Amino acid sequence: MNYSVALVGAGPTAIFSLQALLTIASLPARVTVFERQRRAGQGTPFSPYWSDPIMLANIASIEIPALPQPLVDWLRSQTDARLASLRIAREDIDDRAFYPRLALGEYLASQFMTLVSRARSMGIEIEVRTQATVTDVLIMGEKIQLKVSDSRNTETASLFDYAILATGHQWPSDPEVSSGYFTSPWPASALARIYNRPVGIRGTSLTAIDACVALADHHGEFVSANGDELEYRAKPATEKFAITLFSRKGVLPEADFYHPIPYEPLMICSAVAIQKLTFECGPEGLLDAAFELFRQELAAADPSYAADMGLQTLTIDEFCTAYFAKRTNTDPFNWARHNLVEAMANAERHVTVRWRYAILRMHEVFAILVPHLSDLDFERFADSLKTVFVDNYATVPHESIKRLLALHAAKKLNVEKLEDGAHLDTWTAKQGATLFDGKRRVHFPAFIEATGQQVSSAKDFPFPSLRRQGVIQDIASDGDIEAKRGIAIDGFFHPISAFESSHRLFCLSLPFLLGDHPFAQGITSSAEMAQVVADAIHAAESGRAISAAPQR
Ligand SMILES: Cc1cc2nc3c(=O)[nH]c(=O)nc-3n(C[C@H](O)[C@H](O)[C@H](O)COP(=O)(O)OP(=O)(O)OC[C@H]3O[C@@H](n4cnc5c(N)ncnc54)[C@H](O)[C@@H]3O)c2cc1C
Repeated sequence: MNYSVALVGAGPTAIFSLQALLTIASLPARVTVFERQRRAGQGTPFSPYWSDPIMLANIASIEIPALPQPLVDWLRSQTDARLASLRIAREDIDDRAFYPRLALGEYLASQFMTLVSRARSMGIEIEVRTQATVTDVLIMGEKIQLKVSDSRNTETASLFDYAILATGHQWPSDPEVSSGYFTSPWPASALARIYNRPVGIRGTSLTAIDACVALADHHGEFVSANGDELEYRAKPATEKFAITLFSRKGVLPEADFYHPIPYEPLMICSAVAIQKLTFECGPEGLLDAAFELFRQELAAADPSYAADMGLQTLTIDEFCTAYFAKRTNTDPFNWARHNLVEAMANAERHVTVRWRYAILRMHEVFAILVPHLSDLDFERFADSLKTVFVDNYATVPHESIKRLLALHAAKKLNVEKLEDGAHLDTWTAKQGATLFDGKRRVHFPAFIEATGQQVSSAKDFPFPSLRRQGVIQDIASDGDIEAKRGIAIDGFFHPISAFESSHRLFCLSLPFLLGDHPFAQGITSSAEMAQVVADAIHAAESGRAISAAPQR
């Protein structure tokens, strides 16, 4: 075949896209990869520019979709010195272990280079352009034009038959938008400006833990104590350093739990059953009908859990309150301590908590349903079941919980519930931010927003010509409610527009997908999206029609 493909961005999504393109019968003749960082393949969260060596990945080798070499094999093939530089001990290599994110970045970059060599050996002309920022994309007749700026700010334009936009996370290059107030913890190097001060952090999940451990690392160190536990030792003259985490529920994430991989099939709330509902129900009744399947699956998986919470009579909102009830009424660190003991014991004995595993598997099938919900039910889902799914799948490495417990024991960390109507003033004080929650006002000389990647809309799309051409547009709202659903794409990730050639464009850029695809973050999703794109290109090149679940 004689067609060209541009990959915009060289993170995990681009790596899996390249790999999937090498498996289709109608191979591309030319592939060009554009990456704005110095090195291709590490993506954003796994690169030393954005992350800190202490930050952990929350995906284990066994969960990473197939690449040329599994992560554990790659780690075992490294020298002791290289492993030490990645903060990994050879005896700790295990297919269910969690490693520093920068180690994962090294692994991903090496797999990318293997795939590049593989492409060359297959006769594909492939060019990897690093320090090359794609500044604009536009549709020009039958082609896609890319404008690219290199390290000397020289701009060039080239035409491609297909472009896969895999630009990933979007964070400002300097998150400290006013003195002491950080709109995100990225790049993590910016957090080094915070020293020996009380710090407020909005969020308690993975991103907030990242911010916590990076700050803790600057102010002291974690050391092993009492066998399995950690102790935090602060550096001298850091007595003012203490972190308060704020969240709406005032709870911490739970510890990673043992479960069979690959997933066992769901019996009732299966992908087929949910797909059937999307055809049978109108958007209005869809969420409640799906919740009925969710309820039946959960009760069948773990009858005593269901009976304990009275699942049979709960509405979707009541279920979510019941799911978090015990945790919100318990001290978060006591809860974390007990949950960790249970998770470690279960991992040791390969015991799976059935209700946790059922919810984990069901988040994937609910992902099919979300694009079909009415705006009203989209909002209901976001405020209810989505929070349960995220809590369940975004569990954290045991090491992360140990670090939080050690910081709390050293009186360096607390968690507080953010009352309804709480307000953050980021402008009045000279530094940081002041929190008002109706009862009190607390000033933090440093404050970090750490609630993770938010959904972005078309106005923030990085390529202005596609916006101007009307190729990239927001999903239209139903009317009264303005739901943040991201940009309009079809089942193949083509932007929905009047342009015939928009089928040559694939938008896999995360923040713009996260509305209707709330669980798209993660390496497993990168692999799934990549396969859809490669299949679509193969179908187009071989003149075959294929269908995908309709999206909006
Ligand atoms: C803090 C954090 C931790 C995470 N940890 C995990 C984890 O442990 N496990 C997991 O499965 N998932 C994790 N994720 C989810 C993460 O979204 C995905 O795993 C993965 O990074 C998505 O890959 P991507 O290639 O789509 O995006 P990214 O990783 O963001 O990569 C996008 C790439 O595109 C480049 N780029 C962007 N714009 C341009 C441009 N205009 N021109 C040229 N290049 C460009 C960027 O430099 C980058 O290299 C984490 C996310 C965050 C935020």
